[in-house]
Amino acid sequence: MRPVILIDFDETLIDTTEIKRRTLDLFLGSGAKLPAIKHALLVIRPFAPEKVLHLLFPEDERPKRKFFSLFKRLGEYNYAGVELLLRRLQESHDLILLTYGDPRFQRLKIRQSGLRPFFKKVVVTKDPAKVEAIVKLKKKGAVAILDDAEEVCKAAPKCNLPAIRIRRGRKDSRYFAGVLRRLNRIVS
Ligand SMILES: [Mg+2]
Repeated sequence: MRPVILIDFDETLIDTTEIKRRTLDLFLGSGAKLPAIKHALLVIRPFAPEKVLHLLFPEDERPKRKFFSLFKRLGEYNYAGVELLLRRLQESHDLILLTYGDPRFQRLKIRQSGLRPFFKKVVVTKDPAKVEAIVKLKKKGAVAILDDAEEVCKAAPKCNLPAIRIRRGRKDSRYFAGVLRRLNRIVS
């Protein structure tokens, strides 16, 4: 059995901040008020587009169409260098995408990223700390996790799984080369 690396999706491989920015612009541009948007995002967690759109625009289908058209261009939100990172990791490991969120929305973004073929499996959890999934996947050979979320990087070592915290924001091949080196020190 090959060792398994768990990899987060949002903010680790794709620029979710940019998706959020475009979404907010779209909601405001479609006539929603900021307090109503904030309320919708607070009560619908994890973010599920159909539910949020229905709450904000119950009578109007146009914002929904505009929203989903944000996810048409393949790999548009991928950080530079992620494909290289995944290709290198794949040489000696099985990769599992372990992502927090609404299952339908996560699968839509994953499809759009074009990164699905790198992963043996996709696991979507609604627990932001991902604890149960980590425990389960550790038993199935996971040796490390890459994630930008503080709560995940705190929870994983408690389950005896080393974590590498991925920096939020813009990243490039050089940054990911550094991640590879850190990972090699942990898993070799
Ligand atoms: Mg993340």
